[in-house]
This record gives sequence, C-alpha cells and structure tokens, in this order.
Amino acid sequence: MNPYQILGLQQNSSIDDVERAYKKLAFQFHPDRNPGDAESEKKFKEIQEAYDRIKKPENFQTENTFGGGFNSPFDIIFPFFNEDPNVTINLTINVQEAYFGINKTIQVPRKTPCSQCMGTKFSAFSTCSTCLGQGAVKRAPNVHIRCRDCHGNGKTGTKKCEKCHFTGHIKENTELSIKLPSGLKDNSILRLQGAGHQFREFVGDLLLKVKIVPCGKYYLANDELCINIEAPLSTFISGGDIEITDLDNDVIVVKILPQTPSGTKLRVKNKGMLLPNSENRSDLIAIINVQVPNITDINMLVQLKNLGI
Ligand SMILES: [Zn+2]
Ligand SMILES: [Zn+2]
Repeated sequence: MNPYQILGLQQNSSIDDVERAYKKLAFQFHPDRNPGDAESEKKFKEIQEAYDRIKKPENFQTENTFGGGFNSPFDIIFPFFNEDPNVTINLTINVQEAYFGINKTIQVPRKTPCSQCMGTKFSAFSTCSTCLGQGAVKRAPNVHIRCRDCHGNGKTGTKKCEKCHFTGHIKENTELSIKLPSGLKDNSILRLQGAGHQFREFVGDLLLKVKIVPCGKYYLANDELCINIEAPLSTFISGGDIEITDLDNDVIVVKILPQTPSGTKLRVKNKGMLLPNSENRSDLIAIINVQVPNITDINMLVQLKNLGI
C-alpha cells in the first residue's frame, strides 16, 4: 500500500497537500455520512492509515524501517514467509533395526531457490518507479520506510520466470545417508538441522517420523520389546523350561512353575531396547501362550483326566 496513492497524491506531495486530500476524502467516506456501507468504511480506514503513515511514520517503524542503509536489494525476502521450511518424511523400520540401529539412505524432496531467478520468481525486472530503485522511501530525517510497491527490492518483476513456473524454487530429491541410533521408540521424530527446504538464505530442518513395525515374533508395545512364545500345554500344567531367543540370538532358558496361566508375561532382564542416554537395556517381555494342542498334549490330557486331575 502506497499511502500517497491512496490519498490520490504524487509521491512528492507537500504536507499541506496531504492534509487537504485527507480531509476531503475522510469527509467523503466518513461512516456517519455512509451508514451501513461497508465499502465506505473500509475506504475510510485506509485513508486514515495512509494519513497516519505519512504524518506519523515513527508508528510504523517496527515493520518497515531499516537501521542504517541497505544491503543487497534482495535482502528482503517476501515470497516464502508463509511456507513451512521443514520437510517431514515418514520412515518405517522394523523392531530389529530399531534394536541395533541402522543406516538408511533416503530421498528428501527439497525445494531450493531457482537458479534462473534466484528465488525472486521473475526473470526480468524494471526499476521501481515509486522508490526509484532505493527500496525505501524517506519519511522524515533518518526515517526510511520500506517501499510497498517493490517490497523493498527496488525493482519490480516484469517477466515471470519460466524455469520455476513462477514459484521461485525448484523441487528435487536429495539423497541423504542417515544413521538411526539404537533404541529408537515407535513414532519418534528425529530432527536433522538444515536438511529441509532452502528458501534463499533460510534453511529448514528435516523431520523424520519413525514408525517401528514387528519383525518375526518381536514387536514393541508401550515402548517395550516383546516376544510371543508358545509352549505346550503340558509345560503350563506341570511346569518346565521355556527357551527364549533374544534379538542378539542368545538363548535364554526360563523356568516356569506348574499351573502357570497362559498369557503370562515374563521379564527377561536387560534384553530389551536400549535405554535413553544409557548403556543399559530395558527388559524383554516374553508373553507365553499355550500352543495349539498337538496329539501328545491331547494324550496327556486324557491321562490326566483318567487320573482325576
Ligand atoms: Zn525461477
Ligand atoms: Zn520501490
């Protein structure tokens, strides 16, 4: 918004001209003279703001004023402010990979500035006629306001960039090797700084959402490593040994007592997932269930029944 334009004035108009134009327009669009007319009310507010911007530029300094001089005319980046610079990728690994940690190569769809237009979206420019290429307009001694017509660039685009289809960026896959540490929890989010979209000087992060799926008999439940084990009915009735193979392929023998119910959970110390910031592991939880009876079990049941048990 150029406040001079809103008041129907030239950029170099005097304060007297500003006062006169403001009074005339404010009178014309005053809500009291246009009851219920939303368009007039909007216009009235615009006129007031335009007047304030010219008369009291200090009130508008925070968003628009530069301390001491300009750098490159492209220092101010406006097209990308509404975009999320972070890239989120969903990654699925199995519980064995989470247990040991794993290296993965992933493709990251990143946006990078278009090399043709350097992210400006335009391939040709002309000098801004409002600020004459300065990017700012002087409002008072030592007070410069960013030019609203060119957004402070000093130039306005005259030809849309064809290479990036007027988006300012190119989207391409970047291959990235990542190391997933041992002991990741299901649904964890890993943040890789600076691996997201690049919007000119500003670079976002890559967020990896890790889903952990079962592997064989192993799975995660409430962040604990679990394994389903089946044992014959006879073991549940009379007690006996159960073998549990952990993810390191070590076999652990666990004794169970007679008349143990099916579905019992056994904890095997220090054989679960790596604890955070630690060398220690949590427990492996073995859920023991009765095997579908085979002929031996059935014979045994018959014998037990005959014995009156
Ligand atoms: Zn481009
Ligand atoms: Zn300008």
